[in-house]
Amino acid sequence: MDTDLPPIPFLDLKAQQARLGPGLRARIDAVLAHGQFILGPEVTELEQRLAAFCGAAHCVSVSSGTDALQIAMMAEGIGPGDAVFLPAFTYTATAEVPLLLGATPVFVDIDPATFQIDPAHLEARIGAVNAAGLLRPRAVVGVDLFGQPAPWPALRDIAARHGLFTLDDCAQAFGAALGGERLGRAADATATSFFPSKPLGAYGDGGALFTESDERAALYRSLRTHGEGTTRYDVQRIGMNGRLDTLQAAVLLAKLDVFEAELARRETIARRYDEALASVFATPVRVPESSSAWAIYAVLLRDGAAREAMQARLRARGVPSAVYYPKPLHHQPAYRASHDGAALPVSEDVATRIMALPLHPDLDDAQVARVIEACLEGAADAAG
Ligand SMILES: *Cc1c(COP(=O)(O)O)cnc(C)c1O
Repeated sequence: MDTDLPPIPFLDLKAQQARLGPGLRARIDAVLAHGQFILGPEVTELEQRLAAFCGAAHCVSVSSGTDALQIAMMAEGIGPGDAVFLPAFTYTATAEVPLLLGATPVFVDIDPATFQIDPAHLEARIGAVNAAGLLRPRAVVGVDLFGQPAPWPALRDIAARHGLFTLDDCAQAFGAALGGERLGRAADATATSFFPSKPLGAYGDGGALFTESDERAALYRSLRTHGEGTTRYDVQRIGMNGRLDTLQAAVLLAKLDVFEAELARRETIARRYDEALASVFATPVRVPESSSAWAIYAVLLRDGAAREAMQARLRARGVPSAVYYPKPLHHQPAYRASHDGAALPVSEDVATRIMALPLHPDLDDAQVARVIEACLEGAADAAG
């Protein structure tokens, strides 16, 4: 293999910027010209386009994916004494938010094939919380991990039987679909993130909430601006400063023009990896009847030593890899004390041997071929 080639970028926002062309600058210049940096016209336009994109009745843009989760939980009045069920294998923000509000995260294990929250274990965990009688089951947060949808039909059914609020942590999966419908309406509320590395990324922090409920949408708008009522100086409730900047909305509008094409390119690359690498790794198992936004293409290796060796071999060939996530949340120092000690063996096992390959819309065919070749060579080294 030619090792003189430059390293492949895990994420290539500069290439994307070049591809976006003058439309991006025009959007930014328009904001600089009108000067409405907070809740300017681009924010409204973006909210309308995002709602239309996923078929949701309401979109409320906010300052980050984390703030979207927080506003959604604040609107339900989630707080001390409340149990919020969420997967142990996810990004930290999913568990951080209920803890910030004084609620208790109850960690649920994941499906070993799809890495999504395991509905059977959710049911068992709700039963255990009810039996213990210390916390009130209030909400389930389904995370659409790595860009694939969580098992929403099963989660909704369980939530309905136990009277739980459903919140879709769709930070990694805006643009994904389940049963032919884009995510955004799968739960009572859907929170997404526009962090630069997410499938639809801004040039800074940003996020959005989606809901079918007029009441919830009105509460989200109030909560993102300090709990305001009908005027700015009428404070109805405790809220936060949680608005999306107009400049970020302008960037997202330019990116939205190419987003469907980017999703298609991600899918093409994922299929190429699936076909070429199934003999080397456990390649991603698709959630039935879904399409992924492919935030992350994650494979499983035999064990931690095999992962470490493979990462080193890829690095030597200029191919980056990453580990999402090296630790399940119940092992994080900050969250350990709030875990009730239930066994979460799948989350623990997956964390030791999962590995992500580069997958973004600006990987060209030659780069994809290089990633594949490096993985095949790395496997041959391991065997030989
Ligand atoms: C990125 C992410 C978040 C947080 O989004 P920010 O915009 O960075 O605050 C929340 N949940 C998951 C699963 C994420 O991947």
